[in-house]
Amino acid sequence: MEKILTEEELSKFSGMIDNARKVVVCAHVSPDGDAIGSTLALKHWLTRKGKQVMVVVPNMFPDFLRWMPGVQDVKVFLKHEDKVEPLVAEADLFIITDLNDSKRMMEMEACVLANPAPKIMIDHHLEPADFCQLVISRPDMCASAEVICHLLYQLGELEHITSDEATCLYAAMMCDTGAFTFNSNRAVVYECISHLLNCGIDKDKIYRNVFWTYSLARMRLTGYLLYVKMEVLPELHASIITLTNKERKMLGVKNGDTEGIVNMPLQISGMRLSVFLSEDTEHAGVVKVSLRSVDDFPCNTMSAQFFNGGGHKNASGGRLACGMDEAVQKVREAIKSYAHLLK
Ligand code: 5GP
Ligand code: MN
Repeated sequence: MEKILTEEELSKFSGMIDNARKVVVCAHVSPDGDAIGSTLALKHWLTRKGKQVMVVVPNMFPDFLRWMPGVQDVKVFLKHEDKVEPLVAEADLFIITDLNDSKRMMEMEACVLANPAPKIMIDHHLEPADFCQLVISRPDMCASAEVICHLLYQLGELEHITSDEATCLYAAMMCDTGAFTFNSNRAVVYECISHLLNCGIDKDKIYRNVFWTYSLARMRLTGYLLYVKMEVLPELHASIITLTNKERKMLGVKNGDTEGIVNMPLQISGMRLSVFLSEDTEHAGVVKVSLRSVDDFPCNTMSAQFFNGGGHKNASGGRLACGMDEAVQKVREAIKSYAHLLK
């Protein structure tokens, strides 16, 4: 396992935790498995330490995460803004995880930043912004949950976490690595898993809950998108899939039902880049962009340059304030300008 903090940072971290009574743990917009798993693991751990803890995420998260221990207590800011805002204002510590920039909290950002209470960032995205008193950022790690594993190990606590805590951490790491099929070649990832298994997780069941349990709508959506909507640019080893809100309605699709579909075109032999465009269900006139690549193709650079976004080299996202047709044109332009890396 890795020592994640210097002695000085470690005593700062412990001091911040000791001094806190009401902790708000938050994550990024469109929370994924790592966001929900990491926030819940922290919630369980801090509750065990006698803290009053609230997990708040900016907007809805997918149904396939709803089995996670403690998930019923996650507050969705956009849904309960009036109730959540006073609780956020009362917090005396924030732990902000799986995000590197307060902007990634969207509508929730102002409310969190309005409270001057100390903030700790625990994250694995590149280039952390400067809005937290303590930044624990490890872009080399596969998930924010991995950072938390090492942190707990350094605190001498990883051996003693509950199976609920371990389950949340494992699920988070599993989600961010596609069940350990990418971004997971460091041997220490498996050391973390070994520790979590010793804490009593049922990893087979966690896999089944996340990756092997679909709604009928999701199944039909997958078929529709791959058969009808996927456009392949064979010369450029790239593909584009689009999904409008009208199509969502037609197929009875819920928000989380689209999760992971962006990865599928990369299973086509030789494919290097997959782009998934979907109309934002919460903001009219916005198209969400998801990018996935293999090997050295830099999705994050493309996303920053063309889609007002960023992320990891092989998995990035962004947003375009326009309609779908215009968004597709923008994607074509982006792919054309990166043709030298795709051919
Ligand atoms: P997804 O395609 O799953 O929405 O996002 C994949 C990754 O891209 C996320 O884990 C995050 O790192 C990054 N990402 C997604 N949307 C944005 C965005 O709007 N801005 C930035 N900077 N990164 C994003
Ligand atoms: Mn993550």
